[in-house]
Formats: sequence, C-alpha cells, structure tokens
Amino acid sequence: MLKTFPRLTRDHQCEIVVIGGGITGALIADELSKHGHHVVVLERRDVGWGSSAASTALLQYEIDTHMTALAERYGEADAVRAYRACAEAIGELESLAAGLGNVDFERQQSLYYASNEEDVASLKEELALRQTHGFEAEWLEREAILAEYGFVAPGAILTQLAASVDPLPYGVSTVYQGG
Ligand SMILES: Cc1cc2nc3c(=O)[nH]c(=O)nc-3n(C[C@H](O)[C@H](O)[C@H](O)COP(=O)(O)OP(=O)(O)OC[C@H]3O[C@@H](n4cnc5c(N)ncnc54)[C@H](O)[C@@H]3O)c2cc1C
Repeated sequence: MLKTFPRLTRDHQCEIVVIGGGITGALIADELSKHGHHVVVLERRDVGWGSSAASTALLQYEIDTHMTALAERYGEADAVRAYRACAEAIGELESLAAGLGNVDFERQQSLYYASNEEDVASLKEELALRQTHGFEAEWLEREAILAEYGFVAPGAILTQLAASVDPLPYGVSTVYQGG
C-alpha cells in the first residue's frame, strides 16, 4: 500500500513536529496522535524510503546485546525490563498491523546460533538467564539444527516469539492513519 503525501508549501501550526518518516517517526507520530496531540511528520524524501525500506523486517525481542551483557552493565532488573519491553512490543506491533491491513505481519520463530564451539557456553548462559526470568526459549543441539534447518552449528537458542512485517507499507500506513 503506497501513498504519497503533500509537500509542505506553507506555514502550518501543530503541537509536535516529528522529523523523519521512517518506521520510528511513523510509530512515534501514531502514538502521539492517539493521545490527542496534533502532529506533523516532516520527511525530506518519500515517506518510508530511508533504511526502513532496506530492512529485512524481522521483529525480535532479542536486542543485539545479550541480556547477560546488559545485566553486567546496568543490573539484572534493568536488563530484564529492556528485554520484556521488546517482547511486549511484538504483540503491540501485531495489534497495530491488524488495524492497518495489508502489511504482511507474520509470527515467526527465531534461531540464534553459535557460529563456533567457543560461543556455546555464553549462549547457554544467555538462555539460562532468559529462562530464569520467564522468557520462552529452548536449546537446540547440533543434530537438531541440522535436521530442522539443514545447516551445521554447535548449538542454538530457539524462540517462538518473533515476527516479520513489511516495514514500508507498515510505516506509510501508520503515518497515514495518524492523519
Ligand atoms: C539492510 C538492513 C537490514 C535491516 N534489517 C532489520 C531487521 O531485520 N529488523 C530491524 O528491526 N531492523 C533492521 N534494520 C534496521 C532498520 O532498518 C532500522 O532500525 C529502522 O528501519 C530505522 O527506522 P528509522 O525510521 O529510525 O530510520 P529511517 O527509515 O532511515 O528513516 C529516517 C527518515 O528520516 C528522514 N530524515 C533524516 N533527516 C531528516 C531531516 N533533517 N528532515 C527531514 N527528514 C529527514 C530520512 O529521509 C528517512 O526517511 C535493517 C537495516 C538495514 C540497512
């Protein structure tokens, strides 16, 4: 669902200006307008054509930094809070997608594998910490990875909480819906 938006050709009054019409700006503008604010999104190119259009569009609660590393840096409670916010966001994005229509939202599995034996211990520690805090995840051994996914890795964390979405119509429709 592609849409065009009018150029800004005159002065315009609003409460909040969001600079950038990628997925971040779209979601911020949507949230603010749902809370009754008069929001304008300014985009210097076409809406959705920044890095959002290039994204592989995977929605994972696993942040690039391990929960164990976050816990060391900021404490376990804050690390868990960050992961939980990301886990909850997947359901929230699913609800938003349902209201938008054709944005190809699909629930997915996520497989996070060790590329060599040296990484297995830290990945198992990561899994243990997540499980301690109630995150659904399981360990797959080499044989199971080969049988299920057809490639060789010494171990992996498998989680059922992940999704994919087409970010371009998602962002564009969100901006459009926000008015
Ligand atoms: C190849 C690739 C794969 C990726 N895969 C994933 C993935 O699988 N999952 C995931 O979550 N993330 C992924 N990402 C990251 C993801 O693309 C970004 O996290 C997300 O799309 C960033 O969205 P954004 O709205 O912040 O930025 P953008 O989509 O880049 O939007 C920023 C917008 O701001 C506009 N802008 C900037 N300055 C101004 C200005 N001064 N005035 C007006 N407009 C301005 C730009 O033109 C642009 O359109 C990937 C990124 C790349 C490049």
